[in-house]
Amino acid sequence: MKRIPVSEPFLNGNEEKYVLECLRTSWVSSLGRFIPEFEAKFAKFSGCSHGVAVMNGTVALQLALAALGIKEGDEVIVPDLTFVATANAVKYLGAKPVLVDSEPETWNIDPGKISAAVTKKTKAIIPVHLYGHPCDMDSVMAVAKKHDLFVIEDAAEAHGAEYKGKKVGSIGDVGCFSFYGNKIITTGEGGMCTTGDAGLAGRMHFLKDHAMRPEKRYWHPEMGYNFRMTNVQAAIGLAQLEQIEKFIEIKRKNAQLYNSLLQKISGITIQPEMPWAKSVYWMHSILVDEGKFGCGRDELMAKLKEKGIDSRPFFYPMHQLPVFKGSGSDADFPVASRLSGMGMNLPSSVKLSSDDIRRVCAGIAEFAR
Ligand SMILES: *Cc1c(COP(=O)(O)O)cnc(C)c1O
Repeated sequence: MKRIPVSEPFLNGNEEKYVLECLRTSWVSSLGRFIPEFEAKFAKFSGCSHGVAVMNGTVALQLALAALGIKEGDEVIVPDLTFVATANAVKYLGAKPVLVDSEPETWNIDPGKISAAVTKKTKAIIPVHLYGHPCDMDSVMAVAKKHDLFVIEDAAEAHGAEYKGKKVGSIGDVGCFSFYGNKIITTGEGGMCTTGDAGLAGRMHFLKDHAMRPEKRYWHPEMGYNFRMTNVQAAIGLAQLEQIEKFIEIKRKNAQLYNSLLQKISGITIQPEMPWAKSVYWMHSILVDEGKFGCGRDELMAKLKEKGIDSRPFFYPMHQLPVFKGSGSDADFPVASRLSGMGMNLPSSVKLSSDDIRRVCAGIAEFAR
Protein backbone atom coordinates (compact mmCIF):
# COMPACT_ATOMS: atom_id res chain seq x y z
CA MET A 1 0.00 0.00 0.00
CA LYS A 2 1.37 3.39 -0.97
CA ARG A 3 2.37 5.56 1.99
CA ILE A 4 0.79 9.00 2.00
CA PRO A 5 3.26 11.52 3.48
CA VAL A 6 2.20 14.70 5.28
CA SER A 7 4.12 16.84 2.85
CA GLU A 8 6.27 16.44 -0.22
CA PRO A 9 7.71 19.20 -2.42
CA PHE A 10 6.61 19.52 -6.04
CA LEU A 11 9.64 20.32 -8.22
CA ASN A 12 8.45 19.68 -11.76
CA GLY A 13 8.75 23.21 -13.17
CA ASN A 14 11.89 25.12 -14.20
CA GLU A 15 13.81 24.12 -11.02
CA GLU A 16 16.22 21.79 -12.83
CA LYS A 17 16.84 24.23 -15.70
CA TYR A 18 17.61 27.17 -13.38
CA VAL A 19 19.83 25.13 -11.04
CA LEU A 20 21.77 23.83 -14.05
CA GLU A 21 22.29 27.44 -15.13
CA CYS A 22 23.88 28.16 -11.73
CA LEU A 23 26.21 25.18 -12.09
CA ARG A 24 27.16 25.90 -15.70
CA THR A 25 27.84 29.58 -15.08
CA SER A 26 29.47 28.84 -11.67
CA TRP A 27 27.24 31.35 -9.85
CA VAL A 28 26.57 29.02 -6.92
CA SER A 29 27.18 31.29 -3.94
CA SER A 30 25.30 34.36 -2.77
CA LEU A 31 25.83 36.51 -5.86
CA GLY A 32 24.03 35.87 -9.15
CA ARG A 33 20.99 36.82 -11.13
CA PHE A 34 18.42 34.66 -9.38
CA ILE A 35 18.70 36.37 -5.99
CA PRO A 36 17.54 39.89 -6.92
CA GLU A 37 14.97 38.44 -9.34
CA PHE A 38 13.51 36.11 -6.70
CA GLU A 39 13.49 38.95 -4.14
CA ALA A 40 11.69 41.35 -6.48
CA LYS A 41 9.15 38.85 -7.76
CA PHE A 42 8.33 37.30 -4.38
CA ALA A 43 7.95 40.77 -2.83
CA LYS A 44 5.60 41.77 -5.65
CA PHE A 45 3.60 38.56 -5.24
CA SER A 46 3.23 39.41 -1.54
CA GLY A 47 2.09 42.97 -2.20
CA CYS A 48 5.38 44.55 -1.05
CA SER A 49 7.94 46.72 -2.80
CA HIS A 50 11.02 45.13 -1.17
CA GLY A 51 12.23 41.58 -0.47
CA VAL A 52 15.35 40.51 1.43
CA ALA A 53 16.28 36.86 0.85
CA VAL A 54 17.91 34.93 3.69
CA MET A 55 18.99 31.39 4.64
CA ASN A 56 15.78 30.29 6.37
CA GLY A 57 12.58 31.54 7.97
CA THR A 58 14.01 31.60 11.48
CA VAL A 59 16.74 34.09 10.58
CA ALA A 60 14.17 36.10 8.61
CA LEU A 61 12.42 36.70 11.95
CA GLN A 62 15.71 37.40 13.73
CA LEU A 63 16.79 39.84 11.00
CA ALA A 64 13.46 41.70 11.09
CA LEU A 65 13.69 42.05 14.88
CA ALA A 66 17.33 43.20 14.70
CA ALA A 67 16.57 45.74 11.97
CA LEU A 68 13.74 47.18 14.07
CA GLY A 69 16.18 47.63 16.95
CA ILE A 70 14.83 44.93 19.29
CA LYS A 71 17.46 44.33 21.98
CA GLU A 72 18.14 42.91 25.41
CA GLY A 73 15.50 43.87 27.95
CA ASP A 74 12.75 44.39 25.36
CA GLU A 75 9.58 42.33 25.28
CA VAL A 76 7.93 40.97 22.15
CA ILE A 77 4.43 39.46 22.07
CA VAL A 78 4.10 36.10 20.32
CA PRO A 79 1.29 33.55 20.21
CA ASP A 80 1.57 30.65 22.66
CA LEU A 81 0.58 28.24 19.89
CA THR A 82 3.17 28.50 17.11
CA PHE A 83 6.28 26.80 15.79
CA VAL A 84 9.15 27.31 18.23
CA ALA A 85 11.17 29.51 15.83
CA THR A 86 8.82 32.47 16.37
CA ALA A 87 9.65 32.66 20.08
CA ASN A 88 13.30 31.58 19.72
CA ALA A 89 14.01 34.45 17.30
CA VAL A 90 13.04 36.89 20.06
CA LYS A 91 15.36 35.12 22.51
CA TYR A 92 18.30 35.24 20.07
CA LEU A 93 18.17 39.05 20.37
CA GLY A 94 18.25 38.82 24.18
CA ALA A 95 14.63 39.99 24.33
CA LYS A 96 11.79 38.22 26.10
CA PRO A 97 8.92 36.53 24.26
CA VAL A 98 5.63 37.23 26.04
CA LEU A 99 3.03 34.61 25.22
CA VAL A 100 -0.62 35.27 24.36
CA ASP A 101 -3.41 32.69 24.08
CA SER A 102 -5.15 31.70 20.83
CA GLU A 103 -8.69 32.54 19.74
CA PRO A 104 -10.93 29.50 19.18
CA GLU A 105 -12.26 30.71 15.81
CA THR A 106 -9.03 31.00 13.83
CA TRP A 107 -6.52 29.19 16.10
CA ASN A 108 -4.36 32.35 15.79
CA ILE A 109 -3.28 34.86 18.45
CA ASP A 110 -6.31 36.34 20.23
CA PRO A 111 -6.15 40.13 19.55
CA GLY A 112 -8.48 40.72 22.50
CA LYS A 113 -5.88 39.28 24.87
CA ILE A 114 -2.86 41.26 23.59
CA SER A 115 -3.39 44.52 25.51
CA ALA A 116 -3.25 42.73 28.87
CA ALA A 117 0.23 41.41 27.96
CA VAL A 118 1.65 44.85 27.05
CA THR A 119 4.12 46.44 29.48
CA LYS A 120 6.45 49.47 29.30
CA LYS A 121 9.08 47.14 27.80
CA THR A 122 6.91 45.82 24.94
CA LYS A 123 8.29 46.80 21.51
CA ALA A 124 6.62 44.52 18.98
CA ILE A 125 3.99 41.89 18.21
CA ILE A 126 4.59 38.85 16.00
CA PRO A 127 1.22 37.55 14.79
CA VAL A 128 1.57 34.11 13.15
CA HIS A 129 -0.73 33.07 10.30
CA LEU A 130 -1.00 29.51 11.59
CA TYR A 131 -1.41 26.61 9.16
CA GLY A 132 -2.13 29.06 6.32
CA HIS A 133 -5.05 31.00 7.84
CA PRO A 134 -4.50 34.77 8.25
CA CYS A 135 -4.77 36.47 11.64
CA ASP A 136 -7.45 39.09 12.30
CA MET A 137 -5.01 41.82 11.24
CA ASP A 138 -7.26 44.89 11.70
CA SER A 139 -7.54 44.04 15.38
CA VAL A 140 -3.81 43.28 15.72
CA MET A 141 -2.87 46.55 13.96
CA ALA A 142 -5.28 48.52 16.17
CA VAL A 143 -3.65 47.20 19.38
CA ALA A 144 -0.20 47.86 17.91
CA LYS A 145 -1.14 51.43 17.05
CA LYS A 146 -2.62 52.06 20.47
CA HIS A 147 0.58 50.94 22.24
CA ASP A 148 3.02 52.14 19.54
CA LEU A 149 4.39 48.66 18.72
CA PHE A 150 6.01 47.24 15.60
CA VAL A 151 4.24 44.37 13.86
CA ILE A 152 6.25 41.54 12.30
CA GLU A 153 4.03 39.05 10.49
CA ASP A 154 5.25 35.47 10.74
CA ALA A 155 3.91 34.33 7.37
CA ALA A 156 6.17 31.25 7.21
CA GLU A 157 3.12 29.04 6.64
CA ALA A 158 0.93 31.37 4.63
CA HIS A 159 2.49 32.58 1.34
CA GLY A 160 -0.33 34.10 -0.70
CA ALA A 161 -2.97 34.01 2.05
CA GLU A 162 -5.17 37.11 2.16
CA TYR A 163 -6.74 39.21 4.89
CA LYS A 164 -9.63 41.29 3.47
CA GLY A 165 -8.02 41.02 0.03
CA LYS A 166 -4.56 42.04 1.25
CA LYS A 167 -1.68 39.59 1.05
CA VAL A 168 -0.20 38.52 4.39
CA GLY A 169 3.30 39.88 4.89
CA SER A 170 2.24 43.28 3.49
CA ILE A 171 0.17 44.48 6.44
CA GLY A 172 2.66 44.86 9.32
CA ASP A 173 6.09 46.56 9.26
CA VAL A 174 7.81 43.39 8.00
CA GLY A 175 6.59 40.02 6.72
CA CYS A 176 8.72 36.90 7.31
CA PHE A 177 8.49 33.82 5.11
CA SER A 178 10.07 30.36 5.13
CA PHE A 179 10.94 28.24 2.10
CA TYR A 180 11.65 25.03 4.00
CA GLY A 181 10.89 21.78 2.13
CA ASN A 182 7.32 21.47 3.41
CA LYS A 183 6.20 25.11 3.02
CA ILE A 184 3.89 26.49 0.29
CA ILE A 185 6.94 26.95 -1.94
CA THR A 186 10.45 25.74 -1.15
CA THR A 187 14.09 26.57 -1.84
CA GLY A 188 15.30 23.57 0.21
CA GLU A 189 16.11 25.84 3.11
CA GLY A 190 15.38 29.53 2.73
CA GLY A 191 13.49 32.57 3.89
CA MET A 192 12.56 36.14 3.03
CA CYS A 193 11.64 39.41 4.73
CA THR A 194 9.18 41.63 2.87
CA THR A 195 8.45 45.28 3.55
CA GLY A 196 7.14 48.44 1.94
CA ASP A 197 9.73 50.54 3.77
CA ALA A 198 12.86 51.18 1.65
CA GLY A 199 14.91 52.26 4.67
CA LEU A 200 14.06 49.12 6.60
CA ALA A 201 14.80 46.94 3.55
CA GLY A 202 18.21 48.63 3.21
CA ARG A 203 18.92 48.04 6.89
CA MET A 204 18.05 44.33 6.53
CA HIS A 205 20.26 43.94 3.42
CA PHE A 206 23.11 45.59 5.37
CA LEU A 207 22.72 43.46 8.52
CA LYS A 208 22.34 40.16 6.68
CA ASP A 209 25.68 40.68 4.89
CA HIS A 210 28.03 41.27 7.87
CA ALA A 211 26.93 44.92 8.26
CA MET A 212 29.50 45.96 5.68
CA ARG A 213 29.36 49.47 4.24
CA PRO A 214 28.64 49.04 0.52
CA GLU A 215 31.00 51.90 -0.36
CA LYS A 216 33.79 50.89 2.04
CA ARG A 217 34.79 47.23 1.73
CA TYR A 218 35.59 45.40 4.99
CA TRP A 219 34.36 48.29 7.08
CA HIS A 220 31.75 47.06 9.56
CA PRO A 221 30.37 49.88 11.71
CA GLU A 222 28.46 47.35 13.84
CA MET A 223 28.04 43.62 14.30
CA GLY A 224 26.07 42.03 11.48
CA TYR A 225 25.25 38.49 10.43
CA ASN A 226 25.80 36.15 7.53
CA PHE A 227 22.20 35.28 6.70
CA ARG A 228 22.64 35.28 2.90
CA MET A 229 20.70 32.99 0.55
CA THR A 230 22.60 31.29 -2.29
CA ASN A 231 21.88 31.75 -6.00
CA VAL A 232 21.07 28.01 -6.19
CA GLN A 233 18.36 28.40 -3.55
CA ALA A 234 16.97 31.47 -5.33
CA ALA A 235 16.99 29.55 -8.64
CA ILE A 236 14.74 26.89 -7.11
CA GLY A 237 12.64 29.61 -5.47
CA LEU A 238 12.04 31.45 -8.73
CA ALA A 239 10.91 28.25 -10.45
CA GLN A 240 8.60 27.52 -7.50
CA LEU A 241 7.21 31.05 -7.54
CA GLU A 242 6.21 30.59 -11.20
CA GLN A 243 3.85 27.83 -9.97
CA ILE A 244 2.59 29.28 -6.69
CA GLU A 245 -0.85 30.35 -7.93
CA LYS A 246 -1.43 26.80 -9.18
CA PHE A 247 -0.23 25.31 -5.86
CA ILE A 248 -2.61 27.50 -3.87
CA GLU A 249 -5.52 26.67 -6.16
CA ILE A 250 -4.83 22.94 -5.70
CA LYS A 251 -4.56 23.33 -1.92
CA ARG A 252 -7.88 25.20 -1.74
CA LYS A 253 -9.56 22.54 -3.89
CA ASN A 254 -8.11 19.78 -1.72
CA ALA A 255 -9.43 21.58 1.36
CA GLN A 256 -12.93 21.60 -0.14
CA LEU A 257 -12.81 17.86 -0.73
CA TYR A 258 -11.43 17.17 2.77
CA ASN A 259 -14.13 19.38 4.28
CA SER A 260 -16.97 17.77 2.34
CA LEU A 261 -15.85 14.30 3.45
CA LEU A 262 -15.00 15.14 7.07
CA GLN A 263 -17.79 17.50 8.07
CA LYS A 264 -20.28 14.67 8.60
CA ILE A 265 -18.02 12.86 11.08
CA SER A 266 -19.06 13.66 14.63
CA GLY A 267 -16.22 14.82 16.87
CA ILE A 268 -14.06 16.09 13.99
CA THR A 269 -13.70 19.86 13.52
CA ILE A 270 -12.12 21.15 10.34
CA GLN A 271 -10.04 24.32 10.24
CA PRO A 272 -12.47 27.17 9.69
CA GLU A 273 -12.03 29.85 7.03
CA MET A 274 -13.33 33.20 8.23
CA PRO A 275 -15.48 35.25 5.80
CA TRP A 276 -12.71 37.88 5.58
CA ALA A 277 -9.97 35.33 4.94
CA LYS A 278 -8.41 33.50 2.05
CA SER A 279 -6.54 30.59 3.61
CA VAL A 280 -3.83 28.75 1.68
CA TYR A 281 -4.27 25.60 3.80
CA TRP A 282 -0.57 25.00 4.37
CA MET A 283 -1.77 22.04 6.38
CA HIS A 284 -5.17 20.40 6.25
CA SER A 285 -5.84 20.38 9.96
CA ILE A 286 -8.54 18.92 12.18
CA LEU A 287 -9.44 18.84 15.87
CA VAL A 288 -10.36 15.49 17.37
CA ASP A 289 -12.86 15.58 20.23
CA GLU A 290 -12.19 12.29 22.02
CA GLY A 291 -15.58 12.19 23.78
CA LYS A 292 -17.60 12.68 20.60
CA PHE A 293 -15.34 10.93 18.08
CA GLY A 294 -14.60 7.69 19.86
CA CYS A 295 -10.83 7.89 20.25
CA GLY A 296 -8.29 10.61 20.96
CA ARG A 297 -5.94 12.42 18.61
CA ASP A 298 -2.85 10.34 19.42
CA GLU A 299 -4.71 7.07 19.02
CA LEU A 300 -6.16 8.20 15.68
CA MET A 301 -2.69 9.18 14.46
CA ALA A 302 -1.31 5.75 15.40
CA LYS A 303 -4.18 3.96 13.67
CA LEU A 304 -3.75 5.99 10.48
CA LYS A 305 -0.03 5.25 10.53
CA GLU A 306 -0.85 1.51 10.39
CA LYS A 307 -2.81 2.25 7.23
CA GLY A 308 0.17 4.01 5.65
CA ILE A 309 -1.24 7.49 6.30
CA ASP A 310 1.15 9.97 7.91
CA SER A 311 -0.01 12.84 10.09
CA ARG A 312 1.46 15.31 12.60
CA PRO A 313 0.23 16.55 15.95
CA PHE A 314 -0.21 20.31 16.45
CA PHE A 315 2.74 22.18 17.95
CA TYR A 316 3.13 22.11 21.72
CA PRO A 317 2.20 25.50 23.15
CA MET A 318 5.36 27.45 23.97
CA HIS A 319 4.56 27.68 27.70
CA GLN A 320 4.93 23.88 27.97
CA LEU A 321 8.47 23.82 26.51
CA PRO A 322 11.45 23.78 28.92
CA VAL A 323 13.03 26.82 27.22
CA PHE A 324 10.01 29.00 28.05
CA LYS A 325 9.48 27.66 31.55
CA GLY A 326 7.94 30.20 33.88
CA SER A 327 5.82 31.89 31.23
CA GLY A 328 2.57 30.40 32.52
CA SER A 329 0.51 27.24 32.90
CA ASP A 330 -2.22 25.54 30.88
CA ALA A 331 -4.76 27.54 32.89
CA ASP A 332 -3.22 30.80 31.62
CA PHE A 333 -3.51 29.62 27.99
CA PRO A 334 -6.68 27.51 27.95
CA VAL A 335 -7.44 27.78 24.23
CA ALA A 336 -3.90 27.09 22.99
CA SER A 337 -3.55 24.17 25.41
CA ARG A 338 -6.85 22.65 24.28
CA LEU A 339 -6.10 23.08 20.54
CA SER A 340 -2.61 21.65 20.97
CA GLY A 341 -3.97 18.48 22.57
CA MET A 342 -6.71 17.92 19.98
CA GLY A 343 -5.18 19.15 16.74
CA MET A 344 -3.51 17.21 13.96
CA ASN A 345 -2.32 17.87 10.42
CA LEU A 346 -3.42 15.49 7.66
CA PRO A 347 -1.54 14.81 4.41
CA SER A 348 -1.26 18.20 2.72
CA SER A 349 0.99 17.93 -0.35
CA VAL A 350 0.15 19.62 -3.63
CA LYS A 351 0.76 16.14 -5.13
CA LEU A 352 -2.21 14.55 -3.30
CA SER A 353 -4.75 12.90 -5.58
CA SER A 354 -8.45 12.96 -4.78
CA ASP A 355 -8.18 9.20 -4.22
CA ASP A 356 -5.49 9.86 -1.58
CA ILE A 357 -7.81 12.32 0.16
CA ARG A 358 -10.72 9.85 0.02
CA ARG A 359 -8.45 7.18 1.52
CA VAL A 360 -7.42 9.48 4.39
CA CYS A 361 -11.02 10.46 5.15
CA ALA A 362 -12.27 6.86 4.91
CA GLY A 363 -9.47 5.91 7.31
CA ILE A 364 -10.67 8.51 9.82
CA ALA A 365 -14.34 7.58 9.38
CA GLU A 366 -13.53 3.96 10.17
CA PHE A 367 -12.57 4.85 13.75
CA ALA A 368 -15.54 7.13 14.40
CA ARG A 369 -18.19 5.60 16.59
C1 LIG B 1 8.62 27.03 9.38
C2 LIG B 1 8.35 28.11 10.33
C3 LIG B 1 9.34 29.01 10.75
C4 LIG B 1 10.81 28.83 10.50
O1 LIG B 1 11.20 28.61 9.23
P1 LIG B 1 12.54 27.80 8.89
O2 LIG B 1 12.72 28.12 7.45
O3 LIG B 1 12.27 26.37 9.16
O4 LIG B 1 13.63 28.35 9.75
C5 LIG B 1 8.96 30.09 11.53
N1 LIG B 1 7.69 30.25 11.94
C6 LIG B 1 6.72 29.39 11.59
C7 LIG B 1 5.33 29.65 12.07
C8 LIG B 1 7.02 28.28 10.79
O5 LIG B 1 6.06 27.41 10.49
